[in-house]
Amino acid sequence: MNEKDAELLVREDLPADHRSGFVALAGKPNVGKSTLMNAFLGQKVAIVSSKPQTTRTRILGILTRPDAQVIFVDTPGVHDPRHKLGEFMVQTAAQVIADSDVVLFLADVSELPSQEDHQLAELIAQSARGQVILGLNKMDLLSPDRVKEHVEAYLALAQFQDWLLLSATRGDNLDLLLERIIGALPIGPRYYPEEQVTDQHLRTLAAELIREQVLHFTHQEVPHSVAVQVQRFEEREEGPIYIEAHIFVERESQKGIVIGGGGRMLKQIGQAARREIERLLGQQVYLDLWVKTRYKWRRNERELRRLGYALPRRR
Ligand code: GDP
Ligand code: MG
Repeated sequence: MNEKDAELLVREDLPADHRSGFVALAGKPNVGKSTLMNAFLGQKVAIVSSKPQTTRTRILGILTRPDAQVIFVDTPGVHDPRHKLGEFMVQTAAQVIADSDVVLFLADVSELPSQEDHQLAELIAQSARGQVILGLNKMDLLSPDRVKEHVEAYLALAQFQDWLLLSATRGDNLDLLLERIIGALPIGPRYYPEEQVTDQHLRTLAAELIREQVLHFTHQEVPHSVAVQVQRFEEREEGPIYIEAHIFVERESQKGIVIGGGGRMLKQIGQAARREIERLLGQQVYLDLWVKTRYKWRRNERELRRLGYALPRRR
């Protein structure tokens, strides 16, 4: 931890029993991991996962409350069928599980455990040092006469400190699950300052990179007052990160320059910016660019900043 982080921790004035830690989210595809993350984090999801391949741990999201900070991490390989047989990926997953304070093993209780569930349970049993919580998701799809059989089949997979029936889509037991997770975390500080846990930071950087390319390709024909706002920044389970950005100019003539004949200029800008953003994020990006005329948009600058939009620095 550097000095600045330490200072932030002090300033935040946390309660003495503040809990924090890493929660490995393990589960085969389609059991509802993303749905659960979205339910927990909603708008507050932090896409800090995109650091260029520096760590083996992919952070899915950070939940910050006054009394706790929960850092959900991905378990690579285990739920990625393409790598399932890769020895290295299994080792990596084992390491992530071993480094976590809590492992949340998510399963689809509407079906009986599959081979993949068995493998995952074995890996967790071998590697986990902290508590292991079994989340039996999709309880809404489980008919009452199957509950006993299915629950027992999952409980037999490994030693679990705790287990819960859940429905991530309906929201059943999610509050309870979160309380159990937090209760299983050690007393500890806030590892990530609140303002760093949104994707705003990456949005700002992405907007700056786009703006840079606009200025580069238009050769000063467009004034520096051009603004870029990232409207959407969506990380998806499969495929590239989707980024929609708007380039704001002040006059129709400038719009024509930025778009270019047959859209050629915008295409060049987009390709170059996409490459830069991909380098920044270490992941593939789908960049959707729109050029808009906003007469004297600067008048609204303060309001836009207040809303957290990325605006260029004045030069
Ligand atoms: P992941 O691959 O583990 O991330 O799974 P997803 O979160 O993408 O979910 C896979 C599918 O299961 C989606 O169609 C979800 O809507 C659905 N799903 C997730 N949780 C539940 C649940 O509790 N009940 C029902 N019926 N469907 C769910
Ligand atoms: Mg998913």
